[in-house]
Amino acid sequence: MPATLDRFTGQIVRPDDPEYDQARIVWNAMADKRPALIARCAGVDDVITAVRFAREQDLVVAVRGGGHSVAGFSTCDGGIVIDLSLMRDVTIDAAKRTARLEGGAHLSQLDRQSQAAGLACPVGVVGHTGVAGLTLGGGMGRLQRRFGFTIDNLLSVELVIAEGRRLRASNDENADLFWGIRGAGANFGVVTSFEFRLHPLERTITHGWVAFPIERSGEVAAMVREFIATAPDEAWLSMNFGTATDPPFLPEQAGMPIVMVSVTHSGSLDAAGRDLRPLREGMVPLMDTFAPRAYVDVQGMNDEAMAWGKRFYMKGGFLGALSDEAIAVCTAQMADVPFGGECGVSLWAQGGAIARVADDAMAFTGRSAPWWIGMESAWEGAALDETIKSWNRRAMNALKPFTTVGQYVNDAVESDVDSVQAIYGKEKYDRLVGLKRTYDPDNVFRLNANIRP
Ligand SMILES: Cc1cc2nc3c(=O)[nH]c(=O)nc-3n(C[C@H](O)[C@H](O)[C@H](O)COP(=O)(O)OP(=O)(O)OC[C@H]3O[C@@H](n4cnc5c(N)ncnc54)[C@H](O)[C@@H]3O)c2cc1C
Repeated sequence: MPATLDRFTGQIVRPDDPEYDQARIVWNAMADKRPALIARCAGVDDVITAVRFAREQDLVVAVRGGGHSVAGFSTCDGGIVIDLSLMRDVTIDAAKRTARLEGGAHLSQLDRQSQAAGLACPVGVVGHTGVAGLTLGGGMGRLQRRFGFTIDNLLSVELVIAEGRRLRASNDENADLFWGIRGAGANFGVVTSFEFRLHPLERTITHGWVAFPIERSGEVAAMVREFIATAPDEAWLSMNFGTATDPPFLPEQAGMPIVMVSVTHSGSLDAAGRDLRPLREGMVPLMDTFAPRAYVDVQGMNDEAMAWGKRFYMKGGFLGALSDEAIAVCTAQMADVPFGGECGVSLWAQGGAIARVADDAMAFTGRSAPWWIGMESAWEGAALDETIKSWNRRAMNALKPFTTVGQYVNDAVESDVDSVQAIYGKEKYDRLVGLKRTYDPDNVFRLNANIRP
């Protein structure tokens, strides 16, 4: 019997619907695409119907969780968007310390509902990001040194694979697939639910940053190296090269190139006060914002700055060490920032719980590096696209000699076979090709950092 959408219970949005122009928008304004239909699924049966329909009609398939793909993978021209934005339920089991989420849930839902029970799952730093895409790529964030990446806390998933069938994957069931899902997960089907392990977390933690003029980046890096060498897992640190804005800086400081050291300390307030002293007292900063704050507020503090509607591009990798040479290259990139863009270089500390998981435990590659690095740019107006993208590319090329194996798949904006192989390394890539041949031999799910079957 031919597959139709007759039994679809969610909402179908087509180009002639008044809602279409709103429904087709994704987070990155550069991904301005026009799908033939957007299938807003109301449940797993709708996902199955949509997958079968897409296959029969030979439609290109885009899967949309939270719509934050930097590369714009969750939309397409002329195909179908399997949109999970109506599937956002989150259920917390406080006794078992687990969370079960539908595939369209946002990080802020998981954060808020877990914290209501005094619990948390380590996720990313912007609340409106989708749990699905973030988790299927890895999931980095403020609790990562204490509790690991999001995938390190993933217990199981349920998904609809290309042949339109449901599957469950965990360490006990389809374990090979579960290995691949944790780092290359967008390749194997539509994940309709995720089950996570949660951890007890105080509702009030310590967060803030100290900022310095960029000329002091060498001294700042030395201070950071010393701090992170003995820092507890509760402390997560990032070093960010950017430009001061008013507020929070003073009008006379606005436009100044700066380097910031930002820390989230999730231990007790006393421990944070003690542990953060070297960063707060080592050098006199332009500004010091450390204070006790509600964890959910910290998790939401970038939501507005990273709101929908801007154009965005990035390049990322893993850094082998915070060497003076690498820091000098980061500093030099900021002298070359194109006018009109918000461009910056960020370094995120890894180590702790991340480094205690074996690299071959899952598809994700890069966890043994001490630092993740990203060059990120946001701007408005297509006229600046090429100028800003070429800054990001130049900056990443300059940093390349300092990088180690792997790349975070959620940063990947180019998607040819060579670059995808570089994300995982050859051995893991070959294993992923084997999985792809088993679970998606026709490459139905190809709008992602694609593993070609
Ligand atoms: C503002 C912003 C902040 C970010 N912060 C962080 C951060 O702190 N830490 C971090 O690790 N990453 C971060 N990222 C990167 C983020 O993890 C990725 O962009 C991620 O893919 C977003 O997931 P999504 O569901 O919103 O995206 P979508 O655009 O919906 O999807 C991204 C990819 O995943 C696939 N996909 C989505 N849902 C499903 C599903 N249910 N089943 C199968 N495949 C699916 C899509 O097909 C696509 O290939 C950030 C990105 C942005 C834009």
